[in-house]
Amino acid sequence: MKLDNTFVDQLPGDPESRNFVRVVRDACYSVVQPKTSPNPALIAYSCDLAKLLEVSPAAMGIAEFTEMFAGNRTIRNSTPYAMCYGGHQFGHWAGQLGDGRAITLGETTGTDGVSYALQLKGSGLTPYSRTADGLAVLRSSLREFVCSEAMHYLRVPTTRALSLIRTGDQVIRDMFYDGNPELETGAIVCRVAPTFLRFGNFEIFAAQQNLEVLRQLADFTIRTQFPNIKVDGSTDSYIQWFREILDRTAFLMAEWWRVGFVHGVMNTDNMSITGLTIDYGPYGWLEDFDFGWTPNTTDAQTKRYTYGNQPQIAKWNLLQLARVIYLLMNELEPLQEALNEYDRVFDSYHTDVIRRKLGLEELTEGDIQLVNELYEIFDSIEIDMTLFFRHLANVAPDATTDQDLVQQVSPALYNPDEITQELQDKLENWLATYAAIIRQQNRDPVVRAELMNDNNPLYVPRNYLAQLAIDDADKGDYALLNQWMEVLKSPYQEQSGMEKFSAKRPDWAKSRAGCSMLSCSS
Ligand code: AMP
Ligand code: MG
Repeated sequence: MKLDNTFVDQLPGDPESRNFVRVVRDACYSVVQPKTSPNPALIAYSCDLAKLLEVSPAAMGIAEFTEMFAGNRTIRNSTPYAMCYGGHQFGHWAGQLGDGRAITLGETTGTDGVSYALQLKGSGLTPYSRTADGLAVLRSSLREFVCSEAMHYLRVPTTRALSLIRTGDQVIRDMFYDGNPELETGAIVCRVAPTFLRFGNFEIFAAQQNLEVLRQLADFTIRTQFPNIKVDGSTDSYIQWFREILDRTAFLMAEWWRVGFVHGVMNTDNMSITGLTIDYGPYGWLEDFDFGWTPNTTDAQTKRYTYGNQPQIAKWNLLQLARVIYLLMNELEPLQEALNEYDRVFDSYHTDVIRRKLGLEELTEGDIQLVNELYEIFDSIEIDMTLFFRHLANVAPDATTDQDLVQQVSPALYNPDEITQELQDKLENWLATYAAIIRQQNRDPVVRAELMNDNNPLYVPRNYLAQLAIDDADKGDYALLNQWMEVLKSPYQEQSGMEKFSAKRPDWAKSRAGCSMLSCSS
């Protein structure tokens, strides 16, 4: 394997070569060597991604490759670096952040002709580590490895993960922030994406009032990631760029909505400039449908990053980016116009997502009322979002009684015995209206079910399953993890004998840490 260094070659870097924590100015990155892992061992890898990068699956198993993706062995022609970025965290400007524990090794071209950056997460201190240790623990690394690959197979834009490696380091973490730190297993994920650039990479140069580097980075990003836009420094090119970022971001929000993903920390430093899901931390998957749910304990009071808020938070983050892009063009109006269109753009993606989830040919004004009623029902019943939509595909348009209809979706209910008569009636009515609509649209039930099952996954990386895989992996048993990864490769396809990977959350998981609530400690 041999890498390219486009980012390092074409953008200004930090002249300081020593590795110590500091404020870095006027530079997009600092060159830094990954830390040596004392005893690296491969836990799992993504076979498909290896093939895409022209690494044979057999090679992934050999020690040389483990050493490479643990940061112990330099890949040919690699100039490793940490990126400088800033960001708005929980609504406030936080100043310089940067890759505090991520080191990009360089780029390689995939069999699809796309250039991919390889990045090690958890590979030691960088100038941006601030007060932390630059390391990552197995539980959070496994969660990132599984979820980012699962997102790829769900067809949601995302960074990917090539390998999950145990480093042999013991890492100290106070998981509950309650003064009880413990030693945990250290790990490194090799992440892969066309770029890891975030909104925050651009914000930092606005904060430093360095328009020259800002322009250089913007033009580099457009040239390498947005090839349909001409790089000529014109207002038009920057506004086109912003519109494209806005469009991709709105699309991503609709996709998170579709699959029931809650990112948990949508700070501007965790917003990809190319509209990918990036930085899997205290994320979660909706089990009981709840607009107000956030998996992140740090956000439990403020509830800024709940499932229902994500689309509007994305808009707020885009506003911060617009302020930066404004500096490149000095014209407010076109940016304001683009931002004003965000709600419409998101709505059109969102409406289409709902149409597909419900298996309808079109979504009329009247049907939108149906959707709102469904949300009201979801709000008052504990119901598993993933299973509900999956079972809805089996509802026959000519079901004879309302009872039959409710039976169809009842496996998605968490406490079927506790449902009041009023709610039962509401659900029956809703299903009857839905059946009437599909009757009226005269859709072939097979075609409808196919559309629904292709948009409503059966297997999502449920929070409690991740915890079970972590418990086993901590003991050195990776069988569950590997079996689960295989299942997650075909999330829309029912797989016989794999019911345990689609089962709704068991009661024990309701209160267990790591299953419904997660801290940022990772
Ligand atoms: P996050 O909330 O995980 O996106 O991280 C926010 C910032 O903290 C980023 O600049 C990270 O690089 C940094 N960070 C998080 N964990 C660590 C760590 N263990 N060591 C160094 N920096 C970290
Ligand atoms: Mg981050």
